[in-house]
Amino acid sequence: MHITDAQRQLLKTLWFDGPLSRSDLSRLLAITPNAAGGIAAQLQQLGLVSEMTAETAALRGRPKTPLQIEGRRQSIVGLAVSPGRVEACRFGFAGHPLDRPHVKTLTAGASPLAAAARLLPAVLHPRTLLIALTVPGLVDQKSGNIMLSSAFPDAKSHSVLPVLKAAAGIPLIVGNDLHAAAAGWTLSHRRPFTDDSLLVNIADGQIGAAILINGKPNRGCILGANELGHTRLPMAAPSCYCGGRGCIERIFSSGFLAGKSRGASKGILEARLRANAPGDRRLGIAVSSLAMVLSNAINFLRPANVIIATPFAEYRHFISGLTADIRRGLLPHIGSRVEISVWNRCISGSAHLAAWLGIAGIVLPGWSDYEAQPEHQDRHSTPRLQIAPADE
Ligand SMILES: [Zn+2]
Repeated sequence: MHITDAQRQLLKTLWFDGPLSRSDLSRLLAITPNAAGGIAAQLQQLGLVSEMTAETAALRGRPKTPLQIEGRRQSIVGLAVSPGRVEACRFGFAGHPLDRPHVKTLTAGASPLAAAARLLPAVLHPRTLLIALTVPGLVDQKSGNIMLSSAFPDAKSHSVLPVLKAAAGIPLIVGNDLHAAAAGWTLSHRRPFTDDSLLVNIADGQIGAAILINGKPNRGCILGANELGHTRLPMAAPSCYCGGRGCIERIFSSGFLAGKSRGASKGILEARLRANAPGDRRLGIAVSSLAMVLSNAINFLRPANVIIATPFAEYRHFISGLTADIRRGLLPHIGSRVEISVWNRCISGSAHLAAWLGIAGIVLPGWSDYEAQPEHQDRHSTPRLQIAPADE
């Protein structure tokens, strides 16, 4: 089964503007009604699109039976590896969970990918279209190998072969968790990225970003990730697993506030954000340093949209202080145009976001070359879905 460019365009239109009749689709896609009907029929056969029931269609007051994204027939498995933890869950093609997440907490020295492989059989289903595996850090898009990642503290490259074997012939895509978050934001908000956008994840000791150019993920040079968290400032901060000192993700961390090394004191940052004590000088330094890094990134990239995804969104004084500091650091002509939104979301280790990356690979042009086909893949396996190269 292949997803063609024409099928993907129809899926994308239905995703963001649906439900739509076949004649609406033909008009929006600038193709003949016959062509629209033919592509829709193929997608109905694949179980990705369905007709709305007469009842719901009548409620919408449309004379013809509209088509919608079909969420029940096919499923996507999200598999998220994060430091010390693996989460797996099955989702419908429309992005809703079909099961409760299966979680494995890792003991020191345990292999995250072996644990992920062991979780897989519990979540696979005969109608699983594909498995999307996400990790923080860098994924080599050619081999699917995981390069530098905070989930693999040994700083070595890791093969996804154990997961590929457990996938039992179901296609596997491997990607960066921030790109998965960007996929999740655009698909779940039904707001297409039409311009250049920057999504920033801000958590305790974890700062990352995804850059979208014309709505498509920018993978950077070869390895493809955007290491905003390792922007270094000339400050005394706990040493970073990347080998550097003064990395912003070590400055905006519990360790920095406690003056201790990494991981020694989780929870301090959140407690201090909650307390919002007026004389908390060290917290002030952490927040203003973060704002400086973000202002510089925005000035350099000139995105139209900035999405700040953070589990700390409920601390309003933090969000308002941070966005005010960011805006103060923007060049005037950029500050007047950039839209900054805040998304109350924890990115790390979310199987749901991993599944969104898988759905993006099917629905959105420019997202499908995430599919990893490592050289050592079992040649006898018969993938049930192959995603055709996207039309760029
Ligand atoms: Zn670093």
